Amino acid sequence: MPKTIFERIVDREAQADILYEDEHVLAFPDIAPQAPVHILLIPKRHHARHAAVPPEHHSVFSHLFAAAQKVARQLRLEKNGYRLVMNNGPDGGETVPHLHLHLLGGRPLSWPPG
Ligand code: 5GP
Repeated sequence: MPKTIFERIVDREAQADILYEDEHVLAFPDIAPQAPVHILLIPKRHHARHAAVPPEHHSVFSHLFAAAQKVARQLRLEKNGYRLVMNNGPDGGETVPHLHLHLLGGRPLSWPPG
């Protein structure tokens, strides 16, 4: 399987403005932002999507959500709020098959999503 763009970012073969990095997670702005703040949080280890993460790797979910909290704080989003989204598969709107969490904020977000 060819690497996804996110694996290429993890391997530093593709450019991204890294806002946050720890042992497990990288965070960088989405190339096509859907809100004034739109950050992607990805695990360094490849998993295709939420549904594909085996139980022995479920800690990746806490790593992503914990990192998102730190980035939200870093970007001072706590007071006004923000949204975390994980698109899974065709009906979920997933376009890059590498697990990722969207952090969206900077404006009121409508509900339900389209
Ligand atoms: P998905 O649609 O799979 O939930 O989210 C994938 C996201 O990756 C999209 O919002 C898309 O704009 C973003 N994206 C695709 N290619 C790149 C890229 O090369 N760099 C960055 N920073 N974001 C990308």
